[in-house]
Amino acid sequence: MPTYTAPKDLIMSPKIREECGVFGVYGVEDAAALTTLGLHALQHRGQEACGIASFDGKFHSERHIGLVGENFTGKDLRQRLPGHAAIGHNRYSTAGKTLLRNTQPLFAEMASGGLAIAHNGHLTNAYLLREQLVHDGAIFQSTSDTEVVLHLISRSRRTAFIDRFIDALRQIDGGFAFVGVTNKKLIGARDRLGIRPLVIGKKGDAYILASETCALDIIDAKLVRELEPGEVVVITKDGIEFIRAFPKIPTRPCVFEFVYFARPDSIVGGQSVYEVRKRMGVRLAKECPADVDLIIPVPDSGVPAALGFAQAAQIPFELGIIRNHYVGRTFIQPTQAIRDIGVRLKHSANHSLIKGKKVLLVDDSIVRGTTSTKIVRMIRDAGAAEVHFRSASPEIRHPDFYGVDMPSTDKLLAANYDLEGMRELLGADTLGFLSIEGLYGALGDLSRNAEYPQFSDHCFTGDYPTSLVDNERKNAGENPQLSFLVDVA
Ligand code: AMP
Repeated sequence: MPTYTAPKDLIMSPKIREECGVFGVYGVEDAAALTTLGLHALQHRGQEACGIASFDGKFHSERHIGLVGENFTGKDLRQRLPGHAAIGHNRYSTAGKTLLRNTQPLFAEMASGGLAIAHNGHLTNAYLLREQLVHDGAIFQSTSDTEVVLHLISRSRRTAFIDRFIDALRQIDGGFAFVGVTNKKLIGARDRLGIRPLVIGKKGDAYILASETCALDIIDAKLVRELEPGEVVVITKDGIEFIRAFPKIPTRPCVFEFVYFARPDSIVGGQSVYEVRKRMGVRLAKECPADVDLIIPVPDSGVPAALGFAQAAQIPFELGIIRNHYVGRTFIQPTQAIRDIGVRLKHSANHSLIKGKKVLLVDDSIVRGTTSTKIVRMIRDAGAAEVHFRSASPEIRHPDFYGVDMPSTDKLLAANYDLEGMRELLGADTLGFLSIEGLYGALGDLSRNAEYPQFSDHCFTGDYPTSLVDNERKNAGENPQLSFLVDVA
């Protein structure tokens, strides 16, 4: 059995990585105010930094470390970020002081005019492109892969802005959803496989682009449709136009949006995330039953699956773990030491409910095993007679390269231990995971098409739908070391 190494401290790592939510609006007087609300609804997609850029004849931009609500409030927002068009971004990142320079939207003045752009996802050939650009004389101010795209647009030989944008999109690979604002347009784009989501909404005459439908709901906008994979959308004062930047191919949306990333009240691919998660729980109850007195969800992300499990197994569903809502998501903490404290800060046992009971804990996933190990111990310490654990998704054995924050293989619990080894480490009486077939079943009674799976399920299967140029070069020791300036003040 390989040894399980504790994650290294990632602070100050000049790694390019994103885990984000994007939002854009065109055609409304207070575009930045709506963007603030949209970003607030998308806060679960990244909590370390946020930014908004607006246009009213001039570009305006504000970027901050911290939450949207801490930074974009106040009556003066209209003066700070005026305009009928705006885009915004929520970001998770790993770098400490250096973070602000990577915070989006990024802005650049180009031959075609100004462009502010924001991105959710990850480009799998960003290092290679960056190396080539630097070789050709480009100067980078951040480590964000979004800046690579700005350079590609700026250097395109095409004339019209939108052609330059598409020219850039054709050079990048990976999973991405872009929103951008120019002096005339709001633009959006989605990777050819639809790995990362982007939806279009309408509120009166205004058009909205957002990572998830929950950002439309908060501003009372109607869902028009999802932007199709490989499609570019251009919104101007004359209306909306769609451009197919890539030919249609079978799509591969990221299944982890359903498992964990998206908010349960969002509609993804026409399906309610909440209902899908509940069905994962129903399937889990069939695949890995447990003889227990209570089903307890690991809040908040385990709640829908635990509810589905409890209803299918006809076992009482109880809130045996109380979550303190005033700390961010455990996982989105850059070091293991902080994550360890984070779990305790975040969850406490409901002692009187648990004492003497046989309980089953249900969470959406196990990544490093940090949360599950702590919670099993906590529930045992609270006097449970038996503690069983179920994950409503399969074993995560492979890292993500498309914008979900996932550690490398050596830190993924299921990549390093078999089921019995994991059970022992967690200290649970029994442990079970939903099968990949069960996951596809919960997504709509589909069985996984081995030839061309309907989703990108790479974290579970290792089946990556794009090239992974940067990763291959890294494994071959060919990635250039990025020199990175660490601002100390
Ligand atoms: P871990 O404690 O490392 O095993 O992570 C599992 C916990 O983190 C579960 O409670 C999940 O809900 C949550 N989680 C899973 N994937 C992610 C992610 N990409 N980012 C943040 N949290 C996650």
